[in-house]
Amino acid sequence: MNLPLAGILENLRQKRRRAEWYKRAAREIRDRGRVVALTGAGISVDSGIPDFRDTGGLWERFDPMEYAHIDAFRQTPEKTWLLFQEMQGLVDGAQPNPGHVGLSRLEALGFLCTVITQNVDGLHQRAGNSDVIEYHGNSRSLVCLCCERRVSRDGFGLEQYKGLPRCTCGAVLKPDVVLFGEPIPRQSQFRAQVAARQCGVMLVVGTSAMVYPASEIPQMAKNSGALVVEVNVRETVLTSTVTDIFLEGSASVVFPRLLGVLSGMVQ
Ligand code: ZN
Repeated sequence: MNLPLAGILENLRQKRRRAEWYKRAAREIRDRGRVVALTGAGISVDSGIPDFRDTGGLWERFDPMEYAHIDAFRQTPEKTWLLFQEMQGLVDGAQPNPGHVGLSRLEALGFLCTVITQNVDGLHQRAGNSDVIEYHGNSRSLVCLCCERRVSRDGFGLEQYKGLPRCTCGAVLKPDVVLFGEPIPRQSQFRAQVAARQCGVMLVVGTSAMVYPASEIPQMAKNSGALVVEVNVRETVLTSTVTDIFLEGSASVVFPRLLGVLSGMVQ
C-alpha cells in the first residue's frame, strides 16, 4: 500500500471514529438526561475574550498577584480596578457564540438543567440558560467588603472608576468576582456539588478544570455515576483520567454538530 492511500484510509477511519463519538455522546444525553455543564475560559474565546492564561491574555500584562489578589485589592484597589476595567472592556463588547447557544438549546430541549461556569462574563445567561452557577462570581455587580452590600455595576460608569466606586459606608467597592486568595462563595460551591452529584451527564467545556475546587467537580460527577463528556480544543489532564467521551474542537464548532446529531435522534 502506498503512503498517500494509507493516509487517506487513516483519515477516513478517524472521521468514522469521530462520528461514532458524537453519536454516542448524543445517545447518552438523550437517554440519561440531567445534563450539567462545567464551563471555563475556553468557551468564551470565540466570543473574543482571550483566556487570561494564554499568550496575549491579561496575565501577560498584569501580574495576578499584584492586581488580582485579595491582598492586592486591600492595599492598592486602584490596580485591581485597572485590571477590571480592561476585563470589562473585553466582556462588554462580547456576544454569546454557538457554544453558549448550544448549551442554551440543550436546556430548551429539556436535557440540560444547570451550567456551572468559572467565567464572569455573563454570556451563558445572555444566551438563554436559566440556571447558571457563577463559581467565580460575576462582573455585573460590585460588593462592599465592609458591610457586604451589593450594588449593580450599571450605576457606575467606567469613567467613575478612576475615582474608585465607593459604598455608602465609605469603603471602596470590589468587583463581585472571586479574586485570588478569596474562597468560592459558599452557596455556589454547595450548589455546584449537588448538581455534580445528581447529573446524568457532565459536559466539561473549554476548561481543564485544574484549579481547585472546580477541579473536583468532574470527578465528583463521575463517582456518582455520571458520564463525562469533554469538549476542548486539545486533550487535558482530564482526558485520560476522568473523561469518557472526548469531542475535540472549540465549543462553537462541536455544539452545532452535536445538536445536529441529537436533533436527528429525538425527532
Ligand atoms: Zn459598605
